[in-house]
Amino acid sequence: MTSRRRFLQSSLLSATALALAQGATAATGKTATRARVVSTWDFGVGANQAAWAKLSAGSSALDAVETGARWAEETLCNTTVGHCGYPDRDGVQTLDASIMDGDGRCGAVAAIEDILHPISVARAVMEKTPHVLLVGEGAQQFAVQQGFEKKPLLTPEAKKAWQEWLKTAQYKPQINTERAKLPGNKENHDTLGMLALDANGNLAGACTTSGMAWKLHGRVGDSPIVGAGLYVDHAVGAATASGVGEEMIRNAASFLVVELMRQGRTPMEACREAIDRVVRKRPEASKTLQVCFLAMNREGEVGAYALHKGFVYAVCDAAKQDALLDSRSVY
Ligand code: ASP
Repeated sequence: MTSRRRFLQSSLLSATALALAQGATAATGKTATRARVVSTWDFGVGANQAAWAKLSAGSSALDAVETGARWAEETLCNTTVGHCGYPDRDGVQTLDASIMDGDGRCGAVAAIEDILHPISVARAVMEKTPHVLLVGEGAQQFAVQQGFEKKPLLTPEAKKAWQEWLKTAQYKPQINTERAKLPGNKENHDTLGMLALDANGNLAGACTTSGMAWKLHGRVGDSPIVGAGLYVDHAVGAATASGVGEEMIRNAASFLVVELMRQGRTPMEACREAIDRVVRKRPEASKTLQVCFLAMNREGEVGAYALHKGFVYAVCDAAKQDALLDSRSVY
């Protein structure tokens, strides 16, 4: 994955994104000029490509983000997203996901167990119930009623890692730059957050994660909380987050990023200001934990900002399918 990285400055990307969105490649057609999908982290490259297969064929942003998230839930095998995700402190793997359309429709599931595609259950909550969020057993029961298969997901590797963790049983979220220095050390939290703009100018977003490794049983992060881990508004833009979810919930962070764009900030300025808000609220804590925001406005301009170095995000459009960019950060 590293060899595919294209480390560019966010500002450069913003300029390119804007140029494309404004029709710089109009000759190649409507889909090529407008559509774009962005995702958190390096695994976002693969998720984007799955979503792009839909977007480039003219699918809606909503179908594209569901497809991208499903790719991560099933195909990816890492310790933080989907079926290979690490469990909680009791050895139980619980998954969180949300999906939102720019018209305000949204659905989410939290702390769901033994269902491979929480993102599609979230979409079913949105489309088939009068509710927005289902949790735990109720979410699983609903999934099974909708025809989703219930099967144990915890991998032998994740179980072994949990048994190892029990020896110290310390809950210590790691900043990605720190963990990269530790040989053999695995990521203990991340999220696939994905935002898409389709050829018709509609926006949608999706989040999917196994949350913080070794969390208390029943803990729910920001990813399934609309406004915290994800927010989308056709009139303005979309935002998603990764990092320690409690900070996003405290600050209604993705909603905040969208509202800052509504007030005229660029996506990067809005992400930066939301990060500043996190720092102002908890200056000491912010030195030891990671928070990352990714945003795209309705013109397709993209921006990101993180508390700490190491946040990367993937961008995919007609011009380039595997761009992976370094976010700016406070520390
Ligand atoms: N935001 C996720 C959570 O708190 C974890 C992450 O993205 O790092 O569950």
